[in-house]
Amino acid sequence: MNRRNFVNTLGIGMGGLSVFPNVYASPFEPPQKKLGIALVGLGYYSEFKLAPALLETKYCKLTGIVTGTPEKEEKWAKKYNIPSKNIYTYETYDQIADNPDIDVVYIVLPNGMHAEYTVRGAQAGKHVICEKPMANSVAECEEMIAACKAAGKQLAIGYRLHYEPHTREIIRLGQEQVFGPVKLIEAGFGFKIGDPTQWRLNKKLAGGGPMMDVGVYVIQGTRYVTGEEPIAVTARSWVTDPVKFHDVEETTLWDMEFPSGAVASCTTTYATNTERLRVNAEKGWFELSPAFSYGPIKGRTSKEAFAFPHTNHQAVHMDGVCKSIMDGEPNIVPGEEGLRDMKVIEAIYKSAETGKRVTL
Ligand code: NDP
Repeated sequence: MNRRNFVNTLGIGMGGLSVFPNVYASPFEPPQKKLGIALVGLGYYSEFKLAPALLETKYCKLTGIVTGTPEKEEKWAKKYNIPSKNIYTYETYDQIADNPDIDVVYIVLPNGMHAEYTVRGAQAGKHVICEKPMANSVAECEEMIAACKAAGKQLAIGYRLHYEPHTREIIRLGQEQVFGPVKLIEAGFGFKIGDPTQWRLNKKLAGGGPMMDVGVYVIQGTRYVTGEEPIAVTARSWVTDPVKFHDVEETTLWDMEFPSGAVASCTTTYATNTERLRVNAEKGWFELSPAFSYGPIKGRTSKEAFAFPHTNHQAVHMDGVCKSIMDGEPNIVPGEEGLRDMKVIEAIYKSAETGKRVTL
């Protein structure tokens, strides 16, 4: 399948994901003006993924930063040519309301800070992209959605894979039932975590352990392949190193049941590296492995290997969201999508705690 066929195929029958981002449309017409993005929180993901990707994007560019670390201000200003009037601290953040160079704030802070900075961004009259997991609770997600709605601004979650070709194809294979109805999904995402003092091991800042960090990709995978919402989950969690994991879980295994009868067997962990999304359908199988990290992602079916190009995940994600904003159309990774995952996460934690199957 060549690129154009692939793009054409994607337009059909994807349920909740039917709007294929036009950033792939050909012939490509660059926009008149790029949207200005301010990155909020200049840690790993901002420094090594988002800022470099913003040098490649066609619909947006880096115009501002928000940081609590004074030493980063000069370094970023120099490297990305950011004027001092576009540099904010967490205390001066709300003044971004008066800055026409900034159309979108991109929240790249620890999870426990997502809700506050999304709400303040919306109240400052900016569109918001917020990293995954959307927040620490369903209640926070609802508050964020309401704030963006009240401000008349878009809210998009950092679900970069919805714009990624291999992922788009596995969504098509699942939702169009190319190999018949999906029966069994086996999926996992985890890595061996290092520094025991980092915020990812602090419940207030992280919301939980690997479930909040990378388990959310596994939930996403099962939901976008089936195009269904789970009706029940059953989960168990473990800690083998209580010194390191005194605040959050280390490993969780869980099952998900879907209305069609499909079931998913899922894993997330901070104890070892694992990453795959394997889908067994009635007449064949298809899988991504690696499935969720920055790529290159690899895919194959029981018939053939995928032959899609590697894309810069962060660039296609930000371009896709910003094109939607420019066109005045909903984006394909809205706050409601983050909220659905958070509902599943809360059910998984409840099941792990009670030892009981939890219905949704
Ligand atoms: P880092 O720890 O590398 O960076 C977080 C930054 O947040 C810090 O550098 C700091 O920036 C700021 N910050 C403000 N308050 C605190 C605090 N109390 N503790 C720690 N940092 C603070 O995290 P990541 O960049 O890896 O992750 C940030 C977010 O992005 C998370 O929600 C994560 O889940 C998400 N993420 C998403 C990825 C994806 O593929 N979509 C990949 C990686 C992360 P400053 O010094 O500028 O104030």
